[in-house]
Order: sequence, then C-alpha cells, then structure tokens
Amino acid sequence: MSLDSATLGLAFLLLCGVLGLLLIFSWVLNRNVQALAWWGAAFCLVPFGMGLVSLGLTSPGPRVLLVSNAVMALVGGILYAGCRVFNGRSRTVLVALPGAAVWVLLFPVIQHSFPARLFVASMIAGVYAALSVWELWRHARHRLVSQKLAIVLLALLAAFYVFRSLLGFLSTGIGWVDVLALRWSSNLGLFLLLFIPALAFVFLSMAKEQVEYEHKQAALVDPLTGVPNRRAFFRHAAGLLRRLGDRPATCFLFDLDNFKKINDRFGHEIGDHILTIFGKVLAEHLPVGSFARMGGEEFAAIVSLPRNRVEPLADDIRRAFAAEARIVLGQQVHGTVSVGCATAIGATAHQLVHDADDALYQAKAAGRNAVVLAAE
Ligand code: GH3
Ligand code: MG
Ligand code: MG
Repeated sequence: MSLDSATLGLAFLLLCGVLGLLLIFSWVLNRNVQALAWWGAAFCLVPFGMGLVSLGLTSPGPRVLLVSNAVMALVGGILYAGCRVFNGRSRTVLVALPGAAVWVLLFPVIQHSFPARLFVASMIAGVYAALSVWELWRHARHRLVSQKLAIVLLALLAAFYVFRSLLGFLSTGIGWVDVLALRWSSNLGLFLLLFIPALAFVFLSMAKEQVEYEHKQAALVDPLTGVPNRRAFFRHAAGLLRRLGDRPATCFLFDLDNFKKINDRFGHEIGDHILTIFGKVLAEHLPVGSFARMGGEEFAAIVSLPRNRVEPLADDIRRAFAAEARIVLGQQVHGTVSVGCATAIGATAHQLVHDADDALYQAKAAGRNAVVLAAE
C-alpha cells in the first residue's frame, strides 16, 4: 500500500487545527484548567509552522525556513509551558520563548546546511518534550493516571526527536528510517497522525482527572483546617474496621474547651487559627487520614492501637495542643482540649464514636483539659 504524503500532510495539519480548537473549547467550558488553552494554542500553531514548510513548497526559501521552524520551536515551548501551568508553576511565558530564540539566532550560521538545520530544529523539539516529561514527572501536584500516560507519550516524542536530529549526519541505510529525516514523508505523516490525537486525548484526560480530583478533595477535606471532614472520617473508619477484623480499634473524640468564650473574647479570626493549630497537632501525632474535623470545634480520630497506649497518646496530644495554643497571634489564649477515647473489638464506627462521646462528656464534667478512656 502506498500512502500519499501530501494527503497525509494535509490531513495532519487539519487534524492539529481541529484538535487545537477542541482543546481551547474545553478550556472555555472549564476555565479552571488553563493549561488546556496553552496546549490548544500549541496545536493550533502547528498548521502555520509546518504548513508553511511542508506543503506545496518543493524547496522553501530561507525566510520560510526561518519563520516556520521558529513557529515550531514556539509550539514545543508552549506545550512545555502548558505542562508548567497544569502543575501550577510560574514563569510560563518565559520558558516558551528560548527555543524559538535559539533557532532565530543560529539560523544565519546553519541556514545552508540541511543536517545542521535538522539537528537544531529536532533538538529544540526534543529538549522541550524532555522538559515536559520532567515537569509532569517531578512537579505533579496530584497522582493522576493520565499524567503518567502523558509522560510516556512525551518521552517517546523526545526520543524520536533526538534520534531524528542525528539522521541528517548519519544515514542508517534503512530506507523507511532515513526518510524520517526529510521535511515531510508519508512515514513521518503516519507517525504524527497516530501520535498527535493520542497526545491531545491525554491532555484532555489530565484536565478531566484533575477537576475530578479537586472535586473529590473538596467533598472530603475541611477547607479551614485542611484536614479530612466527617464524611472522610466515616469512610476511612469503615475501611479500617473491616481490615482490623477481630483486632481492637480505638476512637478519639476531641472537643476544644470553652471555645465559645475564646471566640467571644478574642474574635473569630483567633478561633479559626486555633482550629488550624489543632489540625496540625493531630497531624503531628496521628497517621495521615486517620483523623478528621467532625464539625465546629470537634475532631475525631480512629486508629489501631493497644489499649495501654491509648491514654498516653491522647495525653500527648492534649499537652501538645495546650503548649501550642497558649499564645495565639500574640494573644494569651490558653486554649485546651478535652479528649474521650473508646476501644473495642468488632464495633461499628458509630458505636465507637458514641462511646468516645460518653467519655468526652466525663472529661468535660471533670473540669476540661483532660483525657477519659471509656470502660471496656
Ligand atoms: P465546651 O468546653 O463545653 O466544649 O464549651 P464550648 O464553648 O467549646 O462549646 P459550645 O458547643 O458551647 O461552643 C462551640 C463554639 O465553637 C461555638 C461556635 O461559635 C464555635 N465554632 C464552631 N465552628 C467554628 C469555626 O469554624 N470557627 C470559629 N472561630 N468558631 C467556631
Ligand atoms: Mg463542642
Ligand atoms: Mg467545645
């Protein structure tokens, strides 16, 4: 079967334009993921860069070569910038430009040598693809499955460009490999026609997965303290209790003492600050995901712990908080917490919370700033 390279070229350029517009359209629908606009812009620029040099011109003049390859270098830069935007990092415009600048600066030196032009243009594209891999790998904000796929695709692209950069200097003797060095060939067209939609799809998936992740976070995390909320607590507790089977589980309930008075006396801002301090104290003493803000000034935790270690741990938390909340934002607040604990085997999360609540009530009755462990 022989594939017409001009037809493939036209199809590729139109496809890039359409995919670019679709990415931009997705961004219009979801302005939170700004990277979509960057990636869309990069795809839309491809027809201008490659179309100039690859279609209809048997031998493009120096001006066309200069501009088209500068645009393609910019495409690589914008794709990389999009990856940085996706990860919420800075210096986006700045990183998009150096590739094109390098091309323009080197052009007077390399314009008469095809291998040198191929080397520089392919290396710029390869370096940008490699930088994108590094960005998505090292600076990922969340662990997204689609981001890993993007890393694989961009790593392939980087390897392809580095390999292609050398083809001008050394011929492999394998016909279908050596034609990849040409400005355009049906082989290159086929590779890009398969690759580009895959890349656009993965970028879209990343955006979708990120939005879903953030919605899930919002549904499970308390926005003030950044610790899990009541819903996350019961979800985690159900999983933990299932895993523990006939081993004991312990529930802690924490209620900040005289919090209403603290609010009334020092203001809500200090009150809010104390809540975040308590969240930090919990994070310093308990495993990630095991504690939560149940609402107001009440927190809970559920862990697997031998009964003899329950009270010492609760007391450590109580003392650590008393020390941290003694002076808050320059005010002598002297915040304290009362703790109720319950340990049981085979109980439901609601039973454990109920028993811990009874113990907490006793801790309050005993004068606050105290730990009470429910009877077995
Ligand atoms: P006790 O020692 O018996 O627990 O007394 P308390 O004052 O802590 O308990 P009470 O239930 O009477 O008051 C809880 C207060 O917590 C009332 C409410 O204004 C305050 N509160 C609840 N949520 C927040 C919040 O998000 N920020 C601030 N600053 N205050 C909150
Ligand atoms: Mg309360
Ligand atoms: Mg209270």
